[in-house]
Amino acid sequence: MYFFFKKLLIRLFPEKFLIRIEFSLRFFYSLLYLGSAVRCNICGGRFTGFIPLVSGDLLCPRCGSLPRQRRLWIILQPFIHPESRINILHFSPSRFLQKKLQHRIPLYYTTSDYDRKSGTDKHFDITHIPEPDERYGLIICFHVLEHIPDDWQAIGELYRITKPEGRVFIQTPFTEGKLVEDKTITTAAYRLHYFGQEDHVRIYSIEGLAGRLKEAGFSVQAEQYSADLSLGLKEETVLICSKTKSQIFS
Ligand SMILES: [Zn+2]
Repeated sequence: MYFFFKKLLIRLFPEKFLIRIEFSLRFFYSLLYLGSAVRCNICGGRFTGFIPLVSGDLLCPRCGSLPRQRRLWIILQPFIHPESRINILHFSPSRFLQKKLQHRIPLYYTTSDYDRKSGTDKHFDITHIPEPDERYGLIICFHVLEHIPDDWQAIGELYRITKPEGRVFIQTPFTEGKLVEDKTITTAAYRLHYFGQEDHVRIYSIEGLAGRLKEAGFSVQAEQYSADLSLGLKEETVLICSKTKSQIFS
């Protein structure tokens, strides 16, 4: 039913209008799911269940959060308390999470999306970020690098704008074994087949991406998180990249 309503609304109304009323629409739709079986840690809603997507992800009926965003909210807690003074740059945030973080740490939170329709503060090209060196103490880069043809350049830029002892949280879809990349694969159909999505230009393995990040100078920890059914979280890995002083001066 969710997908039926979504398609109907997209057909009937302009995108800009739907984005403006998105939170109200989601709130009213979520009333159909009121219950106590599961809980969303971002919007605080309790529901009979999440909405299953084709990808296998579980969508929150109220705020539209995906598992990776609910996981990110947990990971971020030590960095977003009221006394925190860490400059955070968040690439491609979800709208509800963006709103929540803007409210929590308004002076220290910057959002960026290359897509100018997205309502973020900035629209950086991640391969040429117009920010000074060592500007940010924490950068969140979830599900971005697999879209970027020159990811070496993007990773170099992430390293450049990270403060000494700062961190970058990175996640992409991962495959087992080796990173799969072939620059001759350019059509949507082939990209879907080889990389898992029509607009992806590679699929990383954990080791493959960690290797590129280490070459840029980061120390990398592949943090593995277990599933939590009550929060609709699946097992996943986030790469925690640190720019340590010893690396900078060595
Ligand atoms: Zn939610």
